[in-house]
Amino acid sequence: MGMHDGMLARMGRGPRNPHAGAPFADDDDAIAAALEDVSVPALLCSLVHMTGDPSWIRGGLRPTVASPTQFQGGMPDDLLAEARRLALPAVAGYRDAGCEPYPLSRDLLREMMSFIACKPVDGLLVPMFLEDLQFDGADSRAITWSDEIPDDVKAASHVVVIGCGESGILAGIRLSQAGLPFTIMEKDEGPGGTWWENRYPGARVDVGSHHYCYSFEPGDHWSEYFCQQPELRDYFVKVLDKYELRPHCRFNTEVTKATWDEGTGRWSVEVRTADGATDVLDARFLLSAVGSLNLPRLPDIPGMETFAGPSFHSARWPDGLDITGARFALIGAGASGFQIAPTIADRVGHLDIFQRTPQWIFPNPMYRAKVPPGDRWAMRHLPFYGRWFRFEMMYPGIGVGVEPFRQDPNYHDPEGRAISETSAARRQLLTEWITSHLEGRPDLIEKSIPPYPPSGKRILQDDGSWLAGLKKPNVELVRTSIDRIVPEGVRTADGTLHEADVICYATGFRHNEFLAPMEITGRNGVSLRGQWGDEPTAYLGIAVPNFPNLFCLYGPGTNLAHGASLIFHSECQMTYTMDAIHHVLASGTRTIEARKDVHDHYVERHQRAISQLVWAHPAIVHSHYKNPAGKIFTLSPWPMETYWEWTKSADLNDFVLS
Ligand code: NAP
Repeated sequence: MGMHDGMLARMGRGPRNPHAGAPFADDDDAIAAALEDVSVPALLCSLVHMTGDPSWIRGGLRPTVASPTQFQGGMPDDLLAEARRLALPAVAGYRDAGCEPYPLSRDLLREMMSFIACKPVDGLLVPMFLEDLQFDGADSRAITWSDEIPDDVKAASHVVVIGCGESGILAGIRLSQAGLPFTIMEKDEGPGGTWWENRYPGARVDVGSHHYCYSFEPGDHWSEYFCQQPELRDYFVKVLDKYELRPHCRFNTEVTKATWDEGTGRWSVEVRTADGATDVLDARFLLSAVGSLNLPRLPDIPGMETFAGPSFHSARWPDGLDITGARFALIGAGASGFQIAPTIADRVGHLDIFQRTPQWIFPNPMYRAKVPPGDRWAMRHLPFYGRWFRFEMMYPGIGVGVEPFRQDPNYHDPEGRAISETSAARRQLLTEWITSHLEGRPDLIEKSIPPYPPSGKRILQDDGSWLAGLKKPNVELVRTSIDRIVPEGVRTADGTLHEADVICYATGFRHNEFLAPMEITGRNGVSLRGQWGDEPTAYLGIAVPNFPNLFCLYGPGTNLAHGASLIFHSECQMTYTMDAIHHVLASGTRTIEARKDVHDHYVERHQRAISQLVWAHPAIVHSHYKNPAGKIFTLSPWPMETYWEWTKSADLNDFVLS
């Protein structure tokens, strides 16, 4: 009887906090071996959860730098060894006591954040990180509407989501939690968006994987710290299926047009399937989740159509293409080309890399590192270890805000090589890193130092592979401009013919053309493309005047060249969007539309803010962040916590409801 009661009491505790880690029975030797692989700062935080004893983070064992690429926080080897030695009996004791972590106070969690950040974490950062890290085990941004919206209202409020990448899947999860009917239209044959499409060799994420995932679907499973495309694609497939979204998806179906019907107060959405069939869907709300690095931008080089061999954009890498021994021309070396070149250099016969502008490189020794077994074990079993590891990856970018990117008006550099004293020092460090990897090759050094301030274009990360690749005897870095493509290859302006069997155009995306090529028509026949021209704008990057009941995820002005992962941003945008939809449904109104004055004021502030940051610097001649006039409508200039606060809920004063 007693035993039965005890069992009931245990079950009565409810489901285990998913971040508390699965109980384990590994012996001491196995634990000691695993501890060799872990991030010690995150381990010390986990030990506080295991023991309830804050002294783990109050002594001399502490990190001294917060960096997304140095998981030991700059701790020297002797301190790391000491921490592991002290940790072993504590972890074993936790195991022997049944693997039940202690609940910790908010103040202590905040102190632990400051411990990892190596400086006080305060202000809005605290609630923002607590919301993201979800120490209580609940999905803090889940939709928890009760019965304030009648079922028939919900049933009549079909939502069409355009795109099934990270933000479209997120939209599906939230809409399904809200009990709204919805359909996700996806032009590709599967989910994942950019991670479905970009299959070129070497494609990997350059935001740490433990941060580049939904807050509520963490990745204790990642095999690399910056994992590769197939694993990311599989993650999105897994999440889609876990949340049972597949029945709501129409793959191989492209939205071609969406037209607002003033009479019905609804959107009419025209779609085309891969076999050319068309259909029209009715939607009360339209959510654009199309991404903005999605439309390949092929260059306009004379003679492209005359090339005799296969040629393709990097996002359209042909399945099964055999490049063994081929003479390969890689045109473009931004983020995509930068990953392709070192990956294929040993496979091809010869590789010509045509790079118009050199890129700044951020040294990241972990960029191609596997997550060792001990660290994977810790992610699975040590309480909240994975959460603290996520924080270790998130904080360094978010914690500094946009200040390192600000142009100092008192800093004078007529050559435009730096924006401030700090930027000049950074330039020096990054230059030294490049030259140290290219010793003995002054020709390559000269070609590889960017003539603009560090971070002015999206900084690329590398563990040295790119620079090592440039030195290979079968690789040539061509900085001479391209004159034309001929059947045999690429002819440069100096008259040289670079013979090629294959050409890959890693020339980027039409980043400024949000929602293209769809034809979106709003109130009074206003065309979205016409309204935007080269200056796409939306209030908070989400809501556009004249386009009622339309919400953008990853819309204008929300790309991130600083701070956080786009998934974090999407979660903010989705929270806001769901709140706006809730207002409409709960108030019995038909439509919600951003107020033009509010939008215009926001755009003015956005333009003022972005123009002061490094990406707008005039020394940057070619940048996909800039529109043809050199203005930036793609990027966010806001510190993460500011945007998080603005998007926590939709303020009805910013909208017209009718
Ligand atoms: P990108 O950064 O815009 O780079 C395009 C490259 O093509 C640049 O080297 C560019 O030279 C060159 N180019 C463009 N037009 C050209 C022309 N007409 N003639 C000669 N060269 C030309 O594009 P991307 O590499 O595809 O990356 C785009 C974005 O996708 C990135 O910023 C990032 O946000 C995302 N991305 C991320 C990852 C990752 O997470 N690891 C990987 C790939 C892409 P200029 O520099 O002179 O313009």
